[in-house]
Amino acid sequence: MRIDTKLIHGGIFGDERTGAVSVPIYQVSTYKQDAIGQHRGYEYSRTGNPTREALEKLIADLENGSRGFAFASGMAAISTVTSLFDQGDHLVMGDDVYGGTYRVMSKVFNRLGIWSDFVDTSCPEEVEAAIRPETKAIFMETPSNPLLKVTDIGKMAEICRSHGLLLIVDNTFLTPYWQNPLDLGADIVLHSATKYLGGHSDVVSGLVVVKDEELGERIHFLQNSMGGILPPHDSWLLIRGIKTLGLRMRQHEATSRKLAEWLKGRSDIEQVFYPGLQDHPGHSIAAKQARGFGGMISFDVGGGSRAEQVLSKTRFFTLAESLGAVESLISVPARMTHASIPPERRRELGITDGLIRISVGVEDPEDLLGDLDQALR
Ligand SMILES: *Cc1c(COP(=O)(O)O)cnc(C)c1O
Repeated sequence: MRIDTKLIHGGIFGDERTGAVSVPIYQVSTYKQDAIGQHRGYEYSRTGNPTREALEKLIADLENGSRGFAFASGMAAISTVTSLFDQGDHLVMGDDVYGGTYRVMSKVFNRLGIWSDFVDTSCPEEVEAAIRPETKAIFMETPSNPLLKVTDIGKMAEICRSHGLLLIVDNTFLTPYWQNPLDLGADIVLHSATKYLGGHSDVVSGLVVVKDEELGERIHFLQNSMGGILPPHDSWLLIRGIKTLGLRMRQHEATSRKLAEWLKGRSDIEQVFYPGLQDHPGHSIAAKQARGFGGMISFDVGGGSRAEQVLSKTRFFTLAESLGAVESLISVPARMTHASIPPERRRELGITDGLIRISVGVEDPEDLLGDLDQALR
């Protein structure tokens, strides 16, 4: 099965018993046992629910893994995976991972004695230098947020193999439609399915996929023990969103390429960050490890007040956090998603006050271009 067919026929298709072509929503907490301890595969919905299971099988198929797990948010997925580690363990993390990931590692898991260092994972030497005897994993995103820095997944997998570490990849930005980290040597891939997988700004959820059966058993144990599961109705919404992932991702990308090229040609824009541009520093690695470049673009309009003006003038780009949905969104990372990072640190990372991030939706490309044009003027 090719990916576009898998989106429709992967996991569990419809309902065997009734012939319904959509997976039913099993809005249920417990299940009748035929005799004590004799159940039909389901005992209690935290442990397993047929609608959630259909989603979990689907994401496992899409990521070419053996087990999938659905959680109530991307952060619940990340927290559950981090609970694989013990007190005293250490992780090497990307220095531009999602803000919530940074927060949970530096304000919650550190209190439990699970330590992390944040380095530029697009630079393998920095990653190697941060590895200590207690290091157990590398955690990375590619492309990253908001500067779309690209990390070589295969190279990170090689480093992990030589040091006996797990490689964890947050694949939210490209989704399995464009990139399959498990095929490139990652051990665990995870998603904020709130973004492209759901795709309609109507559900918050997280997904995890592994290839190794034993690791799958450990994550299932943690999912059931910690309990941050995705409810049946949200699981169904996500299955529904995933059916059109291919159509959406192709459109997000085609429009993004067009907008990135157009922005680059303007004299009133300082810099454009999009991995699909030939001169993006990560372009060749991105082209090697992924089938597409995604729908996120950042660009520097020269200063904070101009950025604020642009945001106040767009009509089809809605001022909001989040990304990956059918509607186009616009934000200023320095004032929004990355506001909690001290100004000096933001400067070091290259997150200037004039940096605007857009999540390109599936509206008509000419309307989007016209909207940005009038806002910039
Ligand atoms: C949004 C996001 C998360 C967190 O997911 P939630 O669903 O908001 O909990 C994690 N990683 C990345 C890359 C994200 O964009």
